[in-house]
Amino acid sequence: MELEIVCGYEGSNPQSPDRVDRLGEDAVRVSPESEDGDSNYKFAFDITVKNHAEAARPLNLDVDWQEPPGVGTMYMACRESIYLQHSGSTWQEIRGQLDKDHVRFRLEIPPGESRVGLHPPFGRRELEAFFEQAGTLEGAKRISFGQTAEGRPLEAAVLPGLDREETCLLAIGRFHPYESAGSYCVWGILDLLAGARGEALRERHTFVLVPVANPNGVAHGLCKRTAWGGVNLSAEGSDSNDPTACALRGLIAGVAVASQRPVLLDAHGWMNREDGLWVYRAGLEQAILEQLEEDLFPHAWRTYVRSAAAPDRFTGDLRSYAALRLGMETVVISIPWFGRSPELMRRIGAAVMEAALRALP
Ligand SMILES: [Zn+2]
Repeated sequence: MELEIVCGYEGSNPQSPDRVDRLGEDAVRVSPESEDGDSNYKFAFDITVKNHAEAARPLNLDVDWQEPPGVGTMYMACRESIYLQHSGSTWQEIRGQLDKDHVRFRLEIPPGESRVGLHPPFGRRELEAFFEQAGTLEGAKRISFGQTAEGRPLEAAVLPGLDREETCLLAIGRFHPYESAGSYCVWGILDLLAGARGEALRERHTFVLVPVANPNGVAHGLCKRTAWGGVNLSAEGSDSNDPTACALRGLIAGVAVASQRPVLLDAHGWMNREDGLWVYRAGLEQAILEQLEEDLFPHAWRTYVRSAAAPDRFTGDLRSYAALRLGMETVVISIPWFGRSPELMRRIGAAVMEAALRALP
């Protein structure tokens, strides 16, 4: 076979070759998997295609999302396109043909290796590039604040305020492992701080950046949890004994007690057509939105204002823990891909961070 489908590597979904069915020389059916069957988070798909031939070859790819009858096509429109990257070039979005709970794509695979997924991935390689970039900034520290149940380090880049600390901004991405957008948003904050415009911010504020809050989930190509049978950090992290949840609580609490003005920015990447913004202070959502450039945010916004009187529907969610129990100013974003590039996602994270710092009292 000149086209080889590879899965089972860190971040791939499915992990098992049993979920790849060869339908012919140039045709394959792949069934992504979900650790808990929740269709509302079943948006992880990541395979590699190797073309061993000398010339490009077509690939008919059928992605079978295997939705239960009660769900049917409810989420299928969100899965209509995939991203493809050939040998480290830029990511290309490709639209497919919806057919019930399948999406069919006709791809041209150049010789060599192509990565194909629902979203551009952010795995260990991107995380190392992030820390390498962070390491070039004055005063930067790479810290480990815990370890996952499988022994992976939980790491943050700490950039102490160079002159003083008016604010300590803790930015966390990727409670939900499929939501690579959150990791790119956190990376974008670093981009801004590394550039000329970031100098003034770095003088006055401390930044603690965690691009990957759920390394086990990311490594296993999961959708929502820390493991098969694991915890949903976002919704259940404040009263879980999962080592990742415990470490995140420790980091959040540490920032909350050590800083005069602690701020949490929690970055997600849901699969809604709107961009999402949650705040815990009435009026803050408008103050943030007013500062954002429209060209970065062409979609409508869905905004939520939470408070002790109107908490999130989840008890035990980490953002309420930060906002309501620890008194941190807390801003949550959820930014979908839908054609956006990793570079654009980085600019979006930087823009929201800057807007939030300006909008907060
Ligand atoms: Zn999420």
